[in-house]
Amino acid sequence: EHEDKEEELQPRDPVVVVMGHVDHGKTSLLDAIRKTKVIEGEAGGITQHIGAYRVKIGGKPITFLDTPGHEAFTAMRARGAELTDVAILVVAADDGVMPQTVEAINHAQAAKVPIVVAVNKIDVPGANPEKVRGQLTEFGLVPEEYGGDTMFVDISAKQNLHVDKLLEAVLLTADAELDLRANPDMDARGATVEARLDKGRGAVATVLVQQGTLHVGDAIVAGTSYGRVRAMLDENGQPMEAAGPSTPVQVLGLTSVPTAGDLFLVASDDRAARQIAEKRQATERAAQLAKRRKVVSLEDFKKKFAESEIDMLNIVIKGDSSGSVEALEDSLMKIEVSDEVGIQVIHRGVGAITQNDVNLATVDKAVIIGFNVRPNRQVADLAEREGVEIKYYSVIYRAIEDIEASLKGMLKPEYEEVVTSHSE
Ligand code: GDP
Repeated sequence: EHEDKEEELQPRDPVVVVMGHVDHGKTSLLDAIRKTKVIEGEAGGITQHIGAYRVKIGGKPITFLDTPGHEAFTAMRARGAELTDVAILVVAADDGVMPQTVEAINHAQAAKVPIVVAVNKIDVPGANPEKVRGQLTEFGLVPEEYGGDTMFVDISAKQNLHVDKLLEAVLLTADAELDLRANPDMDARGATVEARLDKGRGAVATVLVQQGTLHVGDAIVAGTSYGRVRAMLDENGQPMEAAGPSTPVQVLGLTSVPTAGDLFLVASDDRAARQIAEKRQATERAAQLAKRRKVVSLEDFKKKFAESEIDMLNIVIKGDSSGSVEALEDSLMKIEVSDEVGIQVIHRGVGAITQNDVNLATVDKAVIIGFNVRPNRQVADLAEREGVEIKYYSVIYRAIEDIEASLKGMLKPEYEEVVTSHSE
């Protein structure tokens, strides 16, 4: 524990997330900001998607988390990461407040994160920004022009209209409502924003430094993974030696892939980092075993089944990045069909579908979901022999739709995948 003294604290930049209903323009807005406002005006803009990026508005930097939507936001919070200072709520002026708009408001308010409203798509004929203002007052978001304290900015993400004004509103809101300071002169701490396994470079994690300064050569622990920072890259792929508070940075050198939202900290040396990580791994294994025993215990299951007719759909999720796996799991857990059936994610992980996954699915009668990942041929054959179903998705909504339909017993296969050959 480090108690910051008043004189150690220095101003830091705000960290911003974009939320809102599907198709209201979250991705378009993030793209528009990225394209036009890249820090230092690097030619060609930010070429890499590392999970976060920084832009400058009037000389002041803002850090954006590049995964839109409240699913990722909430999954991270669930792991203890409070990364966000300000939330931009995107509401399409031609559509108005929709269910996920309300969810986003609830999540932001639960996290006590101030909201700036971006009323988007004002270029669309029939768009009605005033209606959006009226609707949102019901949720406690009262525009300044109506005497409230929430800033509303009418924009068009597609035509890059008033995006500057929106960013200024974010800075104003941060200045007015928040005391954004951190101590840059201590060992770094922060949270993992995104992580993946790269074929050539090993585990690659984007972390956001929240306190202190991260240096190349530091020994770090992130969740159950550990390692020494071999290199750090910014969103343009440029090497960095040090990263201070509110800076997102891609870290190479971890021995395994952490999960989005995992907190990281610098340890005194490599040995300490490894010991902390191994202790956490052991705890996690024990917790998972405890969880699994419940699932496979026939007695327990029968009892539950007899009492309230609980039936579980067991699922194994494998995906190409920890962010997508977390988001998918989170959304699946929210599906509600009836009291008689439920869903349980018995295993999740980053990387290809392995023999282990298939074995687990065989034992627990689970369905495997591959999100942008596939098994190799041996594993696919094994799954076929064992009768384990593997479903592949690249869009979260499709996966959720299918699972929802299957719980209702009304999934009609539209596409069937037929393997005709394998090539190497
Ligand atoms: P998301 O699901 O919230 O990330 O929404 P997207 O950014 O994917 O946008 C959904 C659709 O709305 C896309 O077809 C965009 O081209 C379109 N769109 C986004 N912003 C605007 C806008 O300002 N004006 C218009 N006319 N279309 C927009």
